[in-house]
Amino acid sequence: MFAIGDAALSGSPPTAQVAAQQGKHVGRAIRDGIDSKFVYNHAGSLCSLGSSNGIAQLVPSGTFNVWDALGSPAVGKNQDERAVTGKPAIVLWRSLYWSKLLSSSSRISLGGDWIKAKMSGRDVVEPVLQRAATLRAPV
Ligand SMILES: Cc1cc2nc3c(=O)[nH]c(=O)nc-3n(C[C@H](O)[C@H](O)[C@H](O)COP(=O)(O)OP(=O)(O)OC[C@H]3O[C@@H](n4cnc5c(N)ncnc54)[C@H](O)[C@@H]3O)c2cc1C
Repeated sequence: MFAIGDAALSGSPPTAQVAAQQGKHVGRAIRDGIDSKFVYNHAGSLCSLGSSNGIAQLVPSGTFNVWDALGSPAVGKNQDERAVTGKPAIVLWRSLYWSKLLSSSSRISLGGDWIKAKMSGRDVVEPVLQRAATLRAPV
């Protein structure tokens, strides 16, 4: 029996990234019949702050350094603490979020929503409450 994701006390944080990697690990373990130790590989953190601001911290993997490719100023001192903020971060956040959706129909639906929100603003519904006349009880 395997316990993965939020249901597991694995020492890794209870995040979607950990759960997804553990899912793949267990899938391979069952398929190949190999019982190996799970090693979490942190790819980075993304956070959106409104529609045009955010922060993206991506850990460079292998020989490809995403920071060199982006040519953006980084925040933080260490290599794995470097991050971009503002519009580039939102572009990264949205690209990753969109690419991780499981079906094409979800991607089309979300892409459409983002375009609609950009063109006509957010869908805000303001309920109008009307006070009905209060009947006074006869004295
Ligand atoms: C408000 C909120 C915000 C979060 N934001 C982030 C974030 O920004 N980034 C990030 O990485 N992580 C985030 N997380 C954490 C992330 O959602 C979880 O770590 C991740 O979803 C864990 O995946 P999982 O597959 O282990 O569990 P889940 O995604 O919870 O999946 C478990 C599934 O099992 C089903 N289930 C439960 N009991 C039964 C049963 N008896 N029979 C059949 N099905 C059952 C549930 O309905 C559910 O669909 C957030 C969590 C919350 C609550």
